Formats: sequence, structure tokens, C-alpha cells
Amino acid sequence: MSERIYYTKPSITDLEVEYATDAAKNGWGDHCYEYISRFENGFKKHLGVKYAIATSSCTGALHMGMAALGIAPGDEVIMADTNWIATASPIVQLGATPVFVDVLPDSWCLDPVRVEAAITPRTKAIVAVHLYGNVCDMDALLKIGLKHGIPVIEDAAEAIGSQYHGKRAGSMGAFGAFSFHGTKTITTGEGGMFVTNDPELYEKVLTLSNHGRARSQSKQFWPDMVGFKYKMSNIQAAIGCAQIERVEDLIQGKRRVFEAYVANLAGLPLTMNPEPEGVINGFWMPSIVVDRSASFDREVLLRELREDGIDGRVFFWPLSSLSMFESKPENINSYAIPEMALNLPSYHDLSSEDVVRVSMHIRKSLTAVAC
Ligand SMILES: *Cc1c(COP(=O)(O)O)cnc(C)c1O
Repeated sequence: MSERIYYTKPSITDLEVEYATDAAKNGWGDHCYEYISRFENGFKKHLGVKYAIATSSCTGALHMGMAALGIAPGDEVIMADTNWIATASPIVQLGATPVFVDVLPDSWCLDPVRVEAAITPRTKAIVAVHLYGNVCDMDALLKIGLKHGIPVIEDAAEAIGSQYHGKRAGSMGAFGAFSFHGTKTITTGEGGMFVTNDPELYEKVLTLSNHGRARSQSKQFWPDMVGFKYKMSNIQAAIGCAQIERVEDLIQGKRRVFEAYVANLAGLPLTMNPEPEGVINGFWMPSIVVDRSASFDREVLLRELREDGIDGRVFFWPLSSLSMFESKPENINSYAIPEMALNLPSYHDLSSEDVVRVSMHIRKSLTAVAC
């Protein structure tokens, strides 16, 4: 039996263990925020933004940021139909409605033309999700936002290492949100980050993140509003400090894995995560989308991978196909792509031999009919 190939797993070295151990031993009392501030500062520097607030998850960062932008019952927020639910749930929790628009066939991200067509007087924000490391067409989206006076939020949970014309994903919108869940490019187990260059928005989220207690408030235990509690612990932040010190290596690992897949899958009728002119893709998750003209059964390939101990995963379903939302089959790309697509194992130190082993199954499934 061949060794199991996991879908993702974190890259944890002695450095993470050392910092986490130190936080567990010494990070209390006067020291209880030290790793948190250090992680926030390291992250700000990596991203090139002014403000950062560490959170317990990306979902929490999105929830607070959206609340600070004033998203409330009756509002609409435009986002791509192809997505993880974490982007939609804070919108729903705030009483607003996610408006799902179709994605582009090549980037699997928001189609700006459809975004503009979906704007109504109730539209309060646009969420640009950089899916699988692919970067949204930010020039077009920011232009639309500016024209209509609507903020563009970046959900960059999957886009550590991604850049757009020299700017890091997550640093361009009204605010950005990141995830450090165990499957993401950098991890703290669970965790997230809110980032912005807007001092007012930062102050609002900082207050919201501390149960509504403003830092200017001198009275103890005196919240000025009802807020949230989505904080990251010092021990998680200690792991984050080690990960952010190693971030360039972690990104390089992802790129190496992606490039190995590209080399091994050459000549097959499929496309993978794009990296257009001016964009650097962080390649969080190498995905294949098989050409419509090819004969391909995703379920058969998934089963064959599973039988060989390989973790392949399905592409995100359109959120509008879930029972709690209204179906939108007119989003043809969002509905058609998953049928032909698969996410491939991609942890940072996946060996070249393992990439060959995964690729062999894909090659077999796409050439079986021909021979
Ligand atoms: C992982 C992910 C999230 C959620 O992150 P959590 O830290 O689990 O809340 C949000 N958006 C996208 C696009 C993600 O991939």
C-alpha cells in the first residue's frame, strides 16, 4: 500500500514549537499580548498595510469589518457564486442579503461586468474573493466601487503570496481578511487577520473587537456599544510569528508544488490556476479544470485517487445551489466549472514523487478512452 497523500497539512518546524512553548510558559500577565502585537506587526510589514487586528478566524474578521462598514438588514452585498460559505455567512448574520454573481471562466473570480449589472440602490459592498490564490480583476472592481460609492472588500483567505501589479492581495480594498486555518498557506490552527489602511475603519473594528470598549474609554468594564469577541490567543499568535518569519519559504513551497503539477500534466486537455500579466499567484490550491470537449468523470477520478490513498477534493459548489439560498443556474460558469474540476493535494513540502503519483491518475483518467 502506497503512503497516504494528504490534501493539505501545515508546515511546522522547531521555530513554531519554540515560540508556542515560550508563549505557554511565559506569555501571561504583562506579556499576554506580546506575540499578538508581534504577529500583527509582522503581518502588516509582509502585506504593506498600516493596520492589522489578529482574530480567531477569517469569518470573524469579515463579520467585524462588514459591521463597521454599516452593513445591516435590507442591504445587499455582491459576491461570487463560486465560493466557500464563510464569505456569505457574515452577510447573512448581519441581516443583509448576499447577491451571487457569476465568475469568469479563466480566473474563477468575480466577473466585473456582472458585478456592475447587479448593483442596486441597496448595494452596500462588493466582496472580491481571491479564489484558490487567483487574484480578482481589482482595477475593474475598484473602479466600479469608486464610480458607485461602494466599498470593495477583499477576502484574501486563500491568497497569501498573491500579488496584483506589485500590491499584495488583501491590501487594496476598504479592508482585507485572512484565514490561518490549518489548511491555509500560513496557519495558527484557527485564526485570522483584519487589515486596512483606513484609520477610521481600524478604530471602529478595534472597538468592535473588544466588546465595544473604545481604547479612549477610561472607565473600566464600560462598553460604548455592543461588539464582538473574535480574538486570537497569544499562543496561537506565537505560532503565527514563526509562520510569518517563514512566509517567503512557505509561499515558495506552494509555487514549487504548482510548477511540478504543471510540468507533469503538460499536454492534457485541462487548465489550471492562471497567472496573468502583472499578477503573482500564491498558488494556495492547485486546481484542474478539464476542457469541456474532453471525456471526464470527476467521480471516477476521485474514487481512483481515494483507492490509492490520495486526498483529492471537489471544487467549490455554487453557493446559490445550497438549500438556504435561491438557486441561480443562470450563473453558468459557477455551475459548469465544478463538474469538470478537482483540487489537488498541495502542502508545502509535497515531494516531486508524490506529485508524479497524483498526476499519473489524472493522466490515466483523461486518456483512458483513447487507448
Ligand atoms: C478558509 C476561508 C475562509 C474562512 O476562514 P476561517 O478562518 O475558517 O473563518 C473565508 N473565505 C475563504 C475564501 C476561505 O477559503
